[in-house]
Amino acid sequence: MYRFFVVLFFAACSLINAQDIKPKNIIILIGDGMGINYVGANLLQDPNSPFKQFSTIGLSITCSADNLITDSAAGATALATGYLTKNKYISVDTLGNPLYTLFELAEKLNLSTGVVVTASVAHATPGAFLGHSISRYDQNLIASQMVNEDFDVIIGGGLKYFIPKSDSGEREDNRDLTKELTDKNYTFSEKFSDLKTIPDSVNQIYALFEMDGLPEASKRNYTLGDLTKVALKHLKNDSDGFVLMIEGSQIDWAGHDHKSQMLIDEMKDFSTAVKEALNFAKQDKNTLVLITSDHETGGMSIIKANNSVNDLEPELKLELGYTSTGHTPSPVGIFAFGPGKESFKGIMNINQIGQKLILLLDPSIKF
Ligand SMILES: [Zn+2]
Repeated sequence: MYRFFVVLFFAACSLINAQDIKPKNIIILIGDGMGINYVGANLLQDPNSPFKQFSTIGLSITCSADNLITDSAAGATALATGYLTKNKYISVDTLGNPLYTLFELAEKLNLSTGVVVTASVAHATPGAFLGHSISRYDQNLIASQMVNEDFDVIIGGGLKYFIPKSDSGEREDNRDLTKELTDKNYTFSEKFSDLKTIPDSVNQIYALFEMDGLPEASKRNYTLGDLTKVALKHLKNDSDGFVLMIEGSQIDWAGHDHKSQMLIDEMKDFSTAVKEALNFAKQDKNTLVLITSDHETGGMSIIKANNSVNDLEPELKLELGYTSTGHTPSPVGIFAFGPGKESFKGIMNINQIGQKLILLLDPSIKF
């Protein structure tokens, strides 16, 4: 009898733990190209860097199915589907067959879904969460796939992939996807100032502020954190929960071009989104915040500070060096906060991050 109660007690405990671990909401923040030294630069530059608030940390090996060095398409596919694929492929397997994505699963489970990026919303990283293609460059295709789905809050650039050539867009099929979205009852916005005026009760929004990528962080009067705040305001309307992917898209562009000031500025911009995500998660207490990257860019290292030691923080000016104009296979960091964080501790392949995210939503899925 005693043994029976002990078994019953432990069974109940494991059930409670299983429930505790499953977050209601998931916020994934991807710093495109954000190697460990990028995070290091942010930590050295900003005494209040939000990265300091993470204690559950891992390392991700980012190789794709066909290359030691991944591109953003295969990297994001691994995060969005749990599978490795070839470079340039967007959420299709190595043979070109569509892979089931985290966002498709979230939609099936009646969760809301959102994307906030500073590139085109059909660019490689968001594209892997939102569509399927054997070419990351077919943004027109990815945009038309997005309109067929019921994603809830989409914020970024890339308007030209949604409007016809006759309207100075890129679409040769003459479709005006912005009209199709409005017909589907989406609230459509082309300016950040308009976005702020949308009533809190609205659930489905497309906000495309530029023909292609947004201006770089230092040339915008709003931050990635401001966009994140708006997305969270609308996504939290869903009592079932949500999955939100946020990308600091241009961190990678700064790394390719060896633009050190831009790199620092883009990391600062990204950290505004991390702060918003953490603030939300701390209040909500049922949200997993996961930060990672798809790969390292530029082989960046921190060489020295330009100023004398006396005027270090907060005006510290770092001198950065680079060993490549492309991506490198250096492992990248994983930073987790909130329920479910323990799964992301340790060293793993990039697709295992995607698997763990999917399994948090549906533990019955087999990989
Ligand atoms: Zn890149």
